Amino acid sequence: MIKKLITKRKVIQFIIAFFIYEITIIYGFNFFYFLAIAIVLGSIMGKTFCRWMCPIGFVMEAITTIRGKDQKLGMYNYHKLGCPIAWIQGYLNKTSLLKIKRDPEKCVNCGLCDKTCYITALNKEFSLIKQLKKDPALSYKCSKCLDCIAVCPADSLSLTFEK
Ligand code: SF4
Ligand code: SF4
Repeated sequence: MIKKLITKRKVIQFIIAFFIYEITIIYGFNFFYFLAIAIVLGSIMGKTFCRWMCPIGFVMEAITTIRGKDQKLGMYNYHKLGCPIAWIQGYLNKTSLLKIKRDPEKCVNCGLCDKTCYITALNKEFSLIKQLKKDPALSYKCSKCLDCIAVCPADSLSLTFEK
């Protein structure tokens, strides 16, 4: 179910981003309402706005994808910078209710998750599987693209409510 949703992420983002664009530009929806919604969403799921809802994020991802080999670096730099919504939600990655968790009993240590994530691919101090390294999913820079979950062949990674 979650993997199917992740494969449709760009379509979902396009629809929500278009809606946000419309209500902002045409109807003048106040930016502070977005901030309030971002805080509530961020408390539950962390930094979800950038990769699932944001019109600018949608365009930036398209540009970095067209650039090909620099895609990971482009995403890394973009999500390092962010905007007020990204700053708030990024810092909520550490405390959000839903977190990316690995089941070590299912994990076959293939390393695909670390290769896929733009944070771990570019920063050797981060890893989704090595316990002594920092967890990229708790980092401010994690944009909850959930590509790590999508790529896991053993369904070891999942979005789980922290107990
Ligand atoms: S959701 Fe996973 S792949 Fe995406 S940035 Fe966060 S840790 Fe990396
Ligand atoms: S992709 Fe899944 S199975 Fe492979 S190392 Fe990562 S968590 Fe383990």
